[in-house]
Amino acid sequence: MQHVVQVLLFGPNLPPAGIATECVLNELGIRIPSHHQSVAFLALKAEIGGFDHDQLQLHWQTSAGAFMLVADSPNSQKQLKQLLPANLVTGLKGWHVATFSQKTVWNSLIYGAGLIVLAVMIGIWQYDHLLDWAASRISIETEHEMGKAVLSSYNKRQDAIQSGAAVSFVEGIGQQLTKGSKYKYQWLVIKDDAVNAFAMPGGIVIVNTGLLKKAGSADEVAAVLAHEIQHVEQRHALKNMMNSAGVAAIVMLVLGDANAALIMIAHQVSTQFFSRQVEAEADLKGAQLLLKQGIRPDGMASFFKRLASEQPKQSKVPAWLSSHPDTQNRIQMAEKFAQQHPCADCQVLNWDIEAILENINTHTQAAEAPL
Ligand SMILES: [Zn+2]
Repeated sequence: MQHVVQVLLFGPNLPPAGIATECVLNELGIRIPSHHQSVAFLALKAEIGGFDHDQLQLHWQTSAGAFMLVADSPNSQKQLKQLLPANLVTGLKGWHVATFSQKTVWNSLIYGAGLIVLAVMIGIWQYDHLLDWAASRISIETEHEMGKAVLSSYNKRQDAIQSGAAVSFVEGIGQQLTKGSKYKYQWLVIKDDAVNAFAMPGGIVIVNTGLLKKAGSADEVAAVLAHEIQHVEQRHALKNMMNSAGVAAIVMLVLGDANAALIMIAHQVSTQFFSRQVEAEADLKGAQLLLKQGIRPDGMASFFKRLASEQPKQSKVPAWLSSHPDTQNRIQMAEKFAQQHPCADCQVLNWDIEAILENINTHTQAAEAPL
């Protein structure tokens, strides 16, 4: 069986921009009839190149020098991905088959640059406004794709517990708190002793087992989840990520080139640093959310106090708490809210800490990383 793939060929005595030609593949190797080259698969080295890692390059040596073949169109990449022996293309980090043309990206960049220049010239826009405006134009679906891209680069996702009391506890409270939300939430309980929880754009929420172990009641866990849910609902996580990905990524997202932007975003670290103002908003709206769903809102203050009492000797205190000089303010605000809303009718959440701990302690590493 022979297959013909359109490629660009680079090498000695060829133009610097390469030459478009045909490459014929059979079971043993490749052949480039126009340049009388035949190379066995064994002699080929595959690499990923291109400005956003979407080009498949094949390298080989001849007595005349080094040659390189590039598949730069989505079509020829797809063909090569199917036709090349698996051992040649597996393990190529970061290769995704291009799904958009470079022309589209550059056009988007030019349009985007134009838009920003216009915005600056009008003098209305400040960066924060630009970010808000851009975020408002991003669909929930794109936001979820961003979250998945971040999750795929999160190195602890393999430590997710798949099932059991800890998982169903977190999912149960999470589902209760997100009833009626336009987001489709995904809850991941990660085996990690650091006391932390955080949200990725689009509704992926990570809860460390360290947080479950440290919490004194189900209300405390619920309060932390409500806070993280508000980082999603108020699009804090999205804006944070867009902010760190830079203007080019924002422009591409807004113009619909989600793929291009996702590549940039996937490289962002999933650590979050929110401003005081944003944290205060998540605290307040989180407390309101608890109340709305019939859960007592006093868990936040008691959880904060539990952690604050352990600083600074306790090194596992999360950054989002220890980095905040205004933890005392947050405790006061949370206490005030709880006092004003005692909620006698609120339900008592089931807190089977024994079963949760057993689930955490007996868990072995997940066979597959969830995505
Ligand atoms: Zn927060």
